[in-house]
Amino acid sequence: MKKYCVIGEKLSHTMSPQIHNEFFKIMNIEATYDVVEIAMSDIDLPKTKELLKQYDGINVTVPYKQNVMKHLDWISEEALEIGAVNTIKNVDGKLYGYNSDPYGFEKMLTYNNIEPLNKDCIVLGAGGAAKSLIYYLKKVVKNVKVVSRNKKNTFNGVECITYNELKKENGYLLVNATPVGMFPKVNDIPVKENIIKNFDCIVDIIYNPLLTKFLEIGLSLNKKCVSGFYMLVAQAMKSQSIWQDKEISIDVINQIFNKIEINRKKTLNSNIYLTGMMGSGKSVIGKRLAKMLNWEYVDLDNYISYKYKKSIPEMFEKGEQYFRECETEALLDYASKRRVIVSTGGGTITRSINRDIMKLTGIILFRDRKPKDILSTMNYSKRPLIKEGGEKAFYEIYNNRYELYKNNCDYHLNSIGIDEDLNTIMEWMKYEN
Ligand code: NAP
Repeated sequence: MKKYCVIGEKLSHTMSPQIHNEFFKIMNIEATYDVVEIAMSDIDLPKTKELLKQYDGINVTVPYKQNVMKHLDWISEEALEIGAVNTIKNVDGKLYGYNSDPYGFEKMLTYNNIEPLNKDCIVLGAGGAAKSLIYYLKKVVKNVKVVSRNKKNTFNGVECITYNELKKENGYLLVNATPVGMFPKVNDIPVKENIIKNFDCIVDIIYNPLLTKFLEIGLSLNKKCVSGFYMLVAQAMKSQSIWQDKEISIDVINQIFNKIEINRKKTLNSNIYLTGMMGSGKSVIGKRLAKMLNWEYVDLDNYISYKYKKSIPEMFEKGEQYFRECETEALLDYASKRRVIVSTGGGTITRSINRDIMKLTGIILFRDRKPKDILSTMNYSKRPLIKEGGEKAFYEIYNNRYELYKNNCDYHLNSIGIDEDLNTIMEWMKYEN
């Protein structure tokens, strides 16, 4: 049986075993994955090299990505340029070092449809992680600059600027590669709104909390926002690719990411967003689910009315666009909370920013109720979008939105009845092994 591990100083929160064990399960590989804490005073000693040799493959995490290099027999060009190793392969007692972070970062951008080719990018923080990102970005973007608190002329071959100089910059991509905003200091931000507003895409490679304040501000400015968990999974799969000596498909990466991300959200009691057509029973289900879980419940439309002191039909009189903007602001009010069941409006799903907010901060449950069942109990006069067009207007909206509901949910609940659906949800909410 093959033996793998992760080494670091303090590893109580590491997610690596979950990710790698899921991979072994999917690929039918008999292997173990240990968590090995090494004291700072031991990392440079020969006994650490002997320990490494007991494993077929090793992941290395902070603060040992540089120290470990002295124990290796060979280091890849990539890891040498980055100046850090996060993956070691043991081949017949010889230790080979690699760095899988640039791959993880690239795949995270691709997964989220971020295309930095020939664009201007800024990386915050001149540390180990930044070096990996720059290694990739230098090859594809028009211009990449690093921002450091300490004035340096260059950093790993790219221009380095100060936070003051950053105020004059704008571009496509802004990446946080500092630890600012990481759990437990979740209210800290590396830069403020005046900087974030100058970029189209905002990426934070931090993955705990689910949504950093940095990203929350990005969402409030209607920016494309991405959190670092996909990078963590993708870089782990690159390590596996090196150890198993074979390509790992994107489908496998996505499968592992989705499963572990949902489990992580379940464990963290992240919000549950109920989506579905008007009249699909989201409120009835939501209220009862909240009671069963002892969580807060919010009907987004009611909250919008309360927040803006107007009824929904009154808000629609100012145009659907106005209502949708208020709806996004209302949704964001719940984004940083936990243990809330949010019954969304039927059209919440239509805005990509709303889909991002829900995906980044919770689990999305789509209650799929048959249109004829919905229409049998529909009170048209209370629904601004179908008040005049009736059944025909309803079907038009249904056909336009159905794929959006289906493609943007973590759980697709084919509705049978209230009690049955609640049981199904409660069963699904259990941690999946
Ligand atoms: P690091 O070496 O501790 O910090 C990176 C840089 O951030 C530092 O060199 C420093 O640059 C800047 N910095 C540190 N503290 C700061 C502060 N209080 N205010 C402003 N800037 C500060 O960390 P790292 O290993 O590069 O990792 C950075 C973050 O990326 C961590 O949160 C880590 O968890 C995350 N990460 C995620 C993944 C993933 O797969 N998603 C992979 C690797 C790392 P200057 O002194 O030059 O300003």
